[in-house]
Amino acid sequence: MKLIIIGIGLIGGSMAKDLRRLFDDLEIYGIDHNTEHIKEAIALGVIDREVTMEDISIADLVIVSVPVKVILNLLPQILDKVKNSALVWDVGSTKHALCKSIKNHPKRDQFLAAHPIAGTEFSGPKAAIEGLFEGKPQILCETEKTRPDLLAWAEETFSKMKMYLREMTPKSHDKHMAYVSHLSHVSSFMLGKTVLEIEKDEQNIFDLAGSGFESTVRLAKSSPDMWTPIFEQNKKYLIESLDAYIDNLNHFKKAIATDDHQAIYEQMKNTNQLTQILNGIKIK
Ligand code: NAP
Repeated sequence: MKLIIIGIGLIGGSMAKDLRRLFDDLEIYGIDHNTEHIKEAIALGVIDREVTMEDISIADLVIVSVPVKVILNLLPQILDKVKNSALVWDVGSTKHALCKSIKNHPKRDQFLAAHPIAGTEFSGPKAAIEGLFEGKPQILCETEKTRPDLLAWAEETFSKMKMYLREMTPKSHDKHMAYVSHLSHVSSFMLGKTVLEIEKDEQNIFDLAGSGFESTVRLAKSSPDMWTPIFEQNKKYLIESLDAYIDNLNHFKKAIATDDHQAIYEQMKNTNQLTQILNGIKIK
């Protein structure tokens, strides 16, 4: 089986590692505009060799793992070139614009819109981790538009990777991702920015970070190349979540300014229920 991965970074590289373990006969080829990443991926054994967009027709499976704006541009060209038996799936963090853009493509049924909910703040092939997706959700959108034989194969492969499947419409995916993931990234980036602006002494940032700053600001180390197009494509739901967040910040600030200690305590106490939700205890 021949696999082409477009974008050999954290997610594409991690998928390559898992799929290599699962399929004995797998040949993995890579396409990436970053020649260093291609060299690293070959040296690390993540891919076997580099190919180009002209070679797409040799693939049985194409995984598209570049920033979401690039996926939007490349996907129609990839579908134009794939052979009739091949499957293409993407791993992008937004789905509405992408699914809409290819809805009338003659090979739409060879595409599966997927989003693995796993990752780290690091990028590139060196960041790829075998087993990254184990126990994690794979969100699939518009599965009814993918050819049943290709969908069944993909779903079986995701379960071999020990992922569990969730289905969402593209709009619902983008909305809930804005609420839970994209807002966290904005919040982390802006927390980091604020601290850099008000705390000019880098030694203080380094020495005092362990008290909570380091873990809260982890996502602010993420790649702007990846996140700028996500925020661009998910503008509507991100602004909705930011409005709610800014309201909460203002209420909390007011409670501090007016010495309303009861309100401060209650807001934090109510938020403590996250402990149970994140431990999977409170899910209906
Ligand atoms: P990454 O580690 O930066 O890998 C992306 C790779 O694609 C890099 O080697 C990058 O090179 C390359 N690339 C960028 N533009 C390209 C282009 N026009 N043509 C060819 N190659 C190009 O990013 P990632 O974290 O794996 O993310 C990949 C996709 O997965 C994104 O769509 C993201 O939304 C999605 N995703 C990410 C996570 C996460 O936590 N990171 C989780 C789930 C899904 P350069 O670095 O030189 O640009």
